[in-house]
Amino acid sequence: MANREIIIVGGGMVGALSASLLAKQGDTIHLIEKSPLVMPQIDDQFDLRVSAFSAQSKALLEQAGVWDMIPESRVCAYKGLQTWEAGSQKLIFSSDDIGEALLGYIAENRWIQAVLWQQLKQLSNVHFYENVEVLNIEQNEQQVNVTLSNQKTLQAELLLACDGANSAVRNHLQLPVTSWDYRQHCLLINITTDCPQQSITWQEFRETGPCAFLPLAGHNGSLVWYHSPQKIKQLQSLTNQQLKQTILAEFPHLDFDFEVQSKGGFPLTRRHAKHYYQGRVVLLGDAAHTINPLAGQGVNLGFKDVQCLVELLTLCSDLSIPEILKRYQRQRQPANLLMQTGMDVFYKVSKSDSTALRFLRKSFLGLAQQSGEIKNRVMRYAMGIN
Ligand SMILES: Cc1cc2nc3c(=O)[nH]c(=O)nc-3n(C[C@H](O)[C@H](O)[C@H](O)COP(=O)(O)OP(=O)(O)OC[C@H]3O[C@@H](n4cnc5c(N)ncnc54)[C@H](O)[C@@H]3O)c2cc1C
Repeated sequence: MANREIIIVGGGMVGALSASLLAKQGDTIHLIEKSPLVMPQIDDQFDLRVSAFSAQSKALLEQAGVWDMIPESRVCAYKGLQTWEAGSQKLIFSSDDIGEALLGYIAENRWIQAVLWQQLKQLSNVHFYENVEVLNIEQNEQQVNVTLSNQKTLQAELLLACDGANSAVRNHLQLPVTSWDYRQHCLLINITTDCPQQSITWQEFRETGPCAFLPLAGHNGSLVWYHSPQKIKQLQSLTNQQLKQTILAEFPHLDFDFEVQSKGGFPLTRRHAKHYYQGRVVLLGDAAHTINPLAGQGVNLGFKDVQCLVELLTLCSDLSIPEILKRYQRQRQPANLLMQTGMDVFYKVSKSDSTALRFLRKSFLGLAQQSGEIKNRVMRYAMGIN
């Protein structure tokens, strides 16, 4: 049953996708966003915040009717993923091995958010509250009541907290989280290259942390360099030209010339909410979980949260909201935990300098490369087509 009144706090990629899918079903949406997006322009320099989107995430954006609104010149399809450690065999994932044309797409977060907002602005059942924050949340058995910083009050059957890693809604409800700091930061470096658009993303494991390359549309790419907070701070203080020389010295295998366009450091923190809902309030995306970006799964997990909740609201409309949220938590929490834990084990093993683990790591990469169907299953799982 549609025609619900739903409040969504946070209009990032996860909140905006939720708004779009629910509004299309006829629900009335109240979207609260504290810092609205400045619409990107097609010839803007590439933004530092980019994500790898799985086939499943693309399908959801298609379902929302926005995938084709992303300019072609801002999306890069990739066919291959390679990973290695110095002295080990390369582990190569290729879409050809599983009969798919592509493994996924890399695009700027702000463009995904922008096309969703563009579409939402056309819908008469979506109401916007921009430059506004939630001051108070109260709920009873029938509804949730919200007071906004502009003194307005809203009532709804359900509130979706999509307000990111430092979720004010989660904090307001005192929903506990387990969290730890990876004691690593990553430097995102946007480059322009002298080679045609690439279709392979790679990741090299080092004891100081991984380094990755994500191809972007046209002659553009994103280098992701994980290191200690001190080292990232020092790299950030270099001029673009000095940083280029440092990259060339540290990554001699780069087989193209490039110029550094922009850079920015990000801390890495793992968080997982112990409860995904309370009464009629539910957490989605980074508000519920943040994961090491190593495998590019963060927003893909957030989109799976959205898909799960929208399906439950549609298929189980005879159930009460708290019962639906209980089912949502039952489905999504173990799945997100499994991916988080898998990434953490992988990350810890990849960084260990113990001789035994180094040997096992290298053997693993070689064995995994030979593993045929197991490797293909991993690939399908990451693409969301298992
Ligand atoms: C370095 C790095 C690389 C990454 N790479 C990938 C990748 O390759 N693939 C991938 O899938 N994921 C990746 N991720 C993760 C991905 O970026 C996040 O999972 C995703 O952005 C989360 O989206 P979200 O909508 O849940 O949260 P956010 O993007 O944080 O959006 C939250 C929104 O809520 C708004 N907001 C916040 N507080 C309030 C408030 N109190 N009231 C109202 N509005 C509020 C914010 O302004 C924002 O618009 C990466 C993350 C990092 C740090």
